[in-house]
Amino acid sequence: MSTVPVNITCPYCEFINTRHVDLKNMPSIHGEICYCDCEDGGCDRRFVVDYKVKIETEVRSIDGEKEKV
Ligand SMILES: [Zn+2]
Repeated sequence: MSTVPVNITCPYCEFINTRHVDLKNMPSIHGEICYCDCEDGGCDRRFVVDYKVKIETEVRSIDGEKEKV
């Protein structure tokens, strides 16, 4: 699975829409038009979504590396 759930808050009614974004086929990063999902309780208005991609890192030590001079 390469889709990730993304929460998108409507700028009018603050309803939180969940959209599954395909990482291999990202929507255009800037200016995607979305509808606030009225079937889930939203207001059915249109708004613009600008996506921001963040990358987090974790580090791990490597055996034997600490003893190196
Ligand atoms: Zn809304």
